[in-house]
Amino acid sequence: MDMGIAGRTALVCAASKGLGRGCAEALAAEGVNLVIVARTAATLEATAADIRKNTGVEVKAVACDITTAEGRAAAIAACPQPDILVNNAGGPPSGDFRQFTHEDWIRALEANMLTPIELMRATIDGMIGRNFGRIVNITSSAVKAPIDVLGLSNGARSGLTGFVAGLARKVAPQGVTINNLLPGMFDTDRIVTTIEAQAKAHDISIEESRKRRMAAIPVGRFGTSDEFGRACAFLCSTHAGYITGQNWLIDGGAYPGTF
Ligand code: NAD
Repeated sequence: MDMGIAGRTALVCAASKGLGRGCAEALAAEGVNLVIVARTAATLEATAADIRKNTGVEVKAVACDITTAEGRAAAIAACPQPDILVNNAGGPPSGDFRQFTHEDWIRALEANMLTPIELMRATIDGMIGRNFGRIVNITSSAVKAPIDVLGLSNGARSGLTGFVAGLARKVAPQGVTINNLLPGMFDTDRIVTTIEAQAKAHDISIEESRKRRMAAIPVGRFGTSDEFGRACAFLCSTHAGYITGQNWLIDGGAYPGTF
């Protein structure tokens, strides 16, 4: 299916690895030019080179910490008028909430709530002016079903979700859609940290923790960044103009509810 977005420009945050990279690759495969962001220049440049080679689109790489004001300014300077914005950053650390300090909470809010809001603030009026915009926020299944050891994530991402629910309706008449993608368990570096934290919390081995997590997924495996990226590309397509303000869970059927 032609997604109808060839020649558009996307700003994809936290895109050197994992789910962000999956989104960048899937958009590039549709002919979307990219500005990709991550902290480590060498890894990011290697990803940019791979995407250019595989797809032929333009890829600019901006090495910065997107959770800082300077990082966001650098990203926006490189991509002031994106048609597509994919918000992403590393997830907050796990732990018992009694150990989380005020500073830990501020860091989680900065990374997983306020940074996406700031980037939307910087880019949405351009999208409205062009009568086309697609914003996808990578959040977590923890927004729908909290994960015990990830209190910082459960809290900060829910704040973003509430805000987006309101904003999506406000900008819908101007051709801008905003949706959240909620990953369940995907085979990226991040999953290793989550599995280790749960092993520690439940006093079991890492292998046992991994097995238990997989056993709880009806599809019987972790998801791939490619599958995640393809869903993102569809949400950014011209065909998805009637989908906005939604929270798409991509979890291999792990969430047990009817809705
Ligand atoms: P990952 O560790 O594989 O990749 C993270 C990417 O983000 C890397 O490119 C890294 O360089 C970049 N990054 C991290 N912090 C950054 C920052 N401050 N500024 C710029 N770039 C930064 O992680 P992932 O699995 O792709 O996860 C992406 C997001 O999805 C995270 O917030 C994670 O918590 C969330 N999530 C992942 C899963 C999963 O199963 N993988 C499940 C639920 C939620």
